[in-house]
Amino acid sequence: MHKFSYHLQELKLALEIIAIYLRKSRGDKEKDVLIKHRNALTHYAKQLGVAYVIYEEIGDSDSIEHRPVFKKLLQEVREGLYDAVLVMHTDRLSRGDWKDVAHYREAFKESNTLVLTPHNVYDYSDEEKEITYDLEALIARHEYLRIKQRFRDGKINGLYLKHWVNGPAPFPYIYAPEKKGLIVNEKERPIYEMMKNDYIKGLSLQSIAFKLNNMGILTRRKNKWSAVTVERVLFSEVHLGRIIHGKTTGSGHKNKKTKPLTHHPREQWIIIENCHEAVKTPEEHQQMLLIRESRQKVAKRSRTGVFILSGILYCGKCGYALRINRKQTKNGESTYVVKCQKKDPFGHQCGNPGIDTSVILETIEAEMKKYLSDITNMEALYEESKDRINAIVQAKEKAIKEAKRLINRIEEGFNAEFYTAEEAKRRKNEQEAKIKKLEMEIIELRETQAHYKGVSTAERKRRIEEVLTNMNNPKIDVTELNRLLRLIIDRVSYKRTENEIEVDIKFL
Ligand SMILES: [Zn+2]
Repeated sequence: MHKFSYHLQELKLALEIIAIYLRKSRGDKEKDVLIKHRNALTHYAKQLGVAYVIYEEIGDSDSIEHRPVFKKLLQEVREGLYDAVLVMHTDRLSRGDWKDVAHYREAFKESNTLVLTPHNVYDYSDEEKEITYDLEALIARHEYLRIKQRFRDGKINGLYLKHWVNGPAPFPYIYAPEKKGLIVNEKERPIYEMMKNDYIKGLSLQSIAFKLNNMGILTRRKNKWSAVTVERVLFSEVHLGRIIHGKTTGSGHKNKKTKPLTHHPREQWIIIENCHEAVKTPEEHQQMLLIRESRQKVAKRSRTGVFILSGILYCGKCGYALRINRKQTKNGESTYVVKCQKKDPFGHQCGNPGIDTSVILETIEAEMKKYLSDITNMEALYEESKDRINAIVQAKEKAIKEAKRLINRIEEGFNAEFYTAEEAKRRKNEQEAKIKKLEMEIIELRETQAHYKGVSTAERKRRIEEVLTNMNNPKIDVTELNRLLRLIIDRVSYKRTENEIEVDIKFL
């Protein structure tokens, strides 16, 4: 590694945020030259203690015109975003003709931006002539004090980039107002370490959540942990010491007159490294990503397709959706409900036992037959009672009219000093309560009517009959039967205790 660390100890004071520029040169013979350069320069930036953004050119052109990343960087240098640009050697900036060189030097000069290499500091802003400082000489002359002064005098454009402006600090960080950035909460550090190591050791996100909850540790929002909140903490790039800008623009708020929320691709993000202490290494992050990816693949493979009860079967004990699976028996294949896997926040499994699907299907069939005769009866009952209900409603409406007329009479009586104010009020309240009661009764009656009215009854009957005829049809497609069932059944709850099986069916 290079010998800069000691000398730049002082320069550190002058710099807050820099850009690192990487590009292959046509002269580079070595294969991994960019990786080597990146490692050397990021190491340098870390020793300086500055935040940094990496700009890496894909091609190897010497002319600025054919280097899109450098053109973008140059624009940002002009805007004064960075205190300095760090490169391996100034020939990485340009080996082109004098026009090219003049072009980039102008940008650095105008914006008071330094060029750093591991051995030199270049300051193009000097009026007389461009100055190349030899580092040793620079430090010896305390020249850095002048530089520092200049930066403090107003070059703060890019500083906001390394400030934490993204809302509450994520676990295990806390916001430190004096540095406008994040620091690690020492009490939470070992907990984060444990979470990270557990995941790398092979614990699932869910098990880590159970463990935290059993330890009595809450999330930042004072909730119990779940797989989702654990995942957010483990996979966040903030924990690598980064702050990321430009992930989205606009706002998700519906009422505000802002641009709609847009997510931008990663190439467009500004990733600022070394903004705060990292609590995981890039290697650990990579390892966790690989573990997650391999788990997702397994989860995908075990998906087993549609069953007759897919999407409507729930656990009667905890309400969680139940899974169905296949098994081989001596009579061929059969399907069964898997024992309820749902765990409470502490990791205790619900454990509602499994059962052969046919048991539940038989109950559904019987219930549907009963329901069919019920609605047939209800339909007849409704037809019979239709006139009666209408007559009752009419009578109640008449009673409301009468009560309203009485209220008028009470007011007249009061005006004619036939009642005292108190008496009038009491009588009026009486009538008003009566009206309210009658109105509620009418609404109830209309509701019972609406329940049997319209399309549903005939259509529902037809659908149930269709399911019943198809249920024992060996040729019917499972997906189709599932679709038919879902047209009439909202949910089926199943619960099994030692000597009882409960199946509760909620029709639509
Ligand atoms: Zn359950």
